[in-house]
Amino acid sequence: MTAQIIDGKAVAARLRGDIALEATALAAKGVQPGLAVILVGDDPASQIYVRNKITACESTGIKSFEFKRPGDINERDLLNLISELNRDAGIHGILLQLPLPKHLDENTFVLAIDPAKDVDGLHPLNAGRLMAGLPGLVSCTPRGSLILIHEVRKDLTGLHAVVIGRSILFGKPMAQLLLAENCTVTHCHSKTRDLADHCRRADILVAAVGRAGMVKGDWIKPGAIVIDVGINRLDTGKVVGDVDFDAAKDVAGAITPVPGGVGPMTIACLLANTLQAAGGKNFQ
Ligand code: NAP
Repeated sequence: MTAQIIDGKAVAARLRGDIALEATALAAKGVQPGLAVILVGDDPASQIYVRNKITACESTGIKSFEFKRPGDINERDLLNLISELNRDAGIHGILLQLPLPKHLDENTFVLAIDPAKDVDGLHPLNAGRLMAGLPGLVSCTPRGSLILIHEVRKDLTGLHAVVIGRSILFGKPMAQLLLAENCTVTHCHSKTRDLADHCRRADILVAAVGRAGMVKGDWIKPGAIVIDVGINRLDTGKVVGDVDFDAAKDVAGAITPVPGGVGPMTIACLLANTLQAAGGKNFQ
């Protein structure tokens, strides 16, 4: 079997087109969606991520505001900035680029963001709303991953989903989203015994670990949907996922490549969350 390759670039481009239309419709009603991006320090990777997010906003009619702050900013000054943005009616979404420098406790700032503007979906109120089945802002990468799964299969009822990784940013919200889709969810992590056996029973396998090629071809159930979230840069400079793609594509029914799978969906879903926070449509 050769798996269907789920083209995240194409799906993200389509979503961005829909977002641009919705942003235009909102603007006609006098609301221009606005996203504030806060960058602390000069981490090169964070600078690239922020630049990509701002470019994506510009291409879809979402106004972006960049707030660069020095790496030695103190807690009070950063909290004051967040508090100003919380009060600013022209800002609908606030994204604090992580990681922060070591002297700043990330939780303090995530909790300070108004949950209604928490476009990263990291505030406990939004995490709780997801768990309670209430509408709210959902973390961008799991939200995008679910859209990719739906590209292959609309009704996930009764399927066995295995999620590897339990971070607040990805693994936990992903498991909740799949549970809400009526999947039976097995949640694995670094202390899981017999990981390969769990994976072999997965109709949907989602890997978010950060270990190149950890998921082998013979861990995959024939016909499974495989979502590879990992981003790992090899010494050669090549970027690969957590799944051994070449082996997995001969067994899986559908699989996301790295790059070009989940990655493009993350930014598209950030834009979708910003629109939702501005009162626009909720793209599923
Ligand atoms: P993280 O916070 O480091 O979490 C990694 C998870 O993997 C943890 O839950 C950890 O378990 C688990 N783990 C580690 N070693 C394991 C093993 N040997 N077997 C099973 N589980 C293991 O990372 P993250 O933020 O969730 O990100 C995970 C990966 O996804 C990274 O490569 C990241 O770059 C990528 N990512 C991509 C996007 C995107 O836009 N495409 C977005 C977010 C993340 P414990 O909890 O037990 O430690």
